[in-house]
Amino acid sequence: MTTRKISRKPTRKPPARGVAEGVQGPLDQARRLVVKVGSALLVDARTGRLNRSWLETLVEDLLRLRRRGCELILVSSGAIALGRRHLGLPAGALRLEESQAAAAVGQIRLAHAYKELLEAHEVTVAQVLLTLEDSEQRTRYLNARATLESLLRLGAIPVINENDTVATAEIRYGDNDRLAARVAQMTSADCLVLLSDVDGLYSADPNRDPAAKFIASVAQITPQIEAMAGRSASDVGSGGMATKIAAARIAVGAGCHMCIAAGAHPHPLKRIETGARCTWFLPASSPVAARKQWIAGTLRPVGAIHVDEGALRALQAGKSLLPAGVTGTLGRFESGDTISVLSAAGVEVARGIAAYSDAETARIMGRHSAEIAALLGFRGSDELIHRDDMVILQPSGASASTGAAGGTSAGGVP
Ligand code: GLU
Repeated sequence: MTTRKISRKPTRKPPARGVAEGVQGPLDQARRLVVKVGSALLVDARTGRLNRSWLETLVEDLLRLRRRGCELILVSSGAIALGRRHLGLPAGALRLEESQAAAAVGQIRLAHAYKELLEAHEVTVAQVLLTLEDSEQRTRYLNARATLESLLRLGAIPVINENDTVATAEIRYGDNDRLAARVAQMTSADCLVLLSDVDGLYSADPNRDPAAKFIASVAQITPQIEAMAGRSASDVGSGGMATKIAAARIAVGAGCHMCIAAGAHPHPLKRIETGARCTWFLPASSPVAARKQWIAGTLRPVGAIHVDEGALRALQAGKSLLPAGVTGTLGRFESGDTISVLSAAGVEVARGIAAYSDAETARIMGRHSAEIAALLGFRGSDELIHRDDMVILQPSGASASTGAAGGTSAGGVP
């Protein structure tokens, strides 16, 4: 029997005790945190070697957050910077094939360092290499999301980088700021920290303009905010302030807080928690609300299912939709597609992301979830639509939450 990845997000654990204690900031309250570590922090610009003692302090911070009940995902740069030294490549811009070779050599060293440091504390590390397509193409997005969910559920810390060895100029992110924001969006994280060589956003480039004012928090990314983005003076990283603002757009759109903070000090996360200067970008809603808005307002359903009275009551009570309550399917849909849920009278009562295709649904409808494996030959999810992937609509068919605009590609998925 095979198993199949599903796209739904498991229900979150309630925040661990102690989360609400101490300084109240988005990082203190984070339940699922993505931390992006820039090359300039990880790799000593002079020697080209890993800044191991600094990384140890970051790991201590991460483990403290984890003990508090926070789920962690790392997005780490540094593969190219580490590999180039090892291969003896000259300073300055590398040719594409040289940076791909450097990444191949550096990534294994980078992953090894994380493994050594985290597994010394009995925490499992998982290396995940993503490409741009993994976040832009719908099925690959859903697969990557399911893999990350599984790793978190199993207690591992995913350490993510772009798959630089296969990424060419046209098909790469090139910077891990936006990659980290996509990961935050993909996993419905509530907090993203970009550890960088700059301490945040200024009204102008502080290296050139002594009157530049520090911006501590951004509630809305206006054209004025975008105009403030200059380039960081980093030698080894590739993301400037402009890519950080682009990352912030993705993150806050997905209901995730984002912080730009200076990382070059020991214990960089503890510093943020204890009030060190940094810029926070504030989302208008939570990750779950942003996702539900997207389901309600962004995608046109490609198919539908009919449910019975019992299922309807369960949905309205906030439960997931099980195959047992389904009485029929309409149209063609695949796992991961948005579908309408119709009452016996044909009124659209909910909308959500299907865990099974129309053909699979037809085979499991009316049956108990325990029978799914035997009926389909693989183990999928118990629910046809998980409650986190579903929006209950008003009887009129209007959305219960406020609508959201956006594209229909996976790139717009909160
Ligand atoms: N993926 C690149 C690396 O690991 C870094 C990209 C970036 O600096 O943002 O070397």
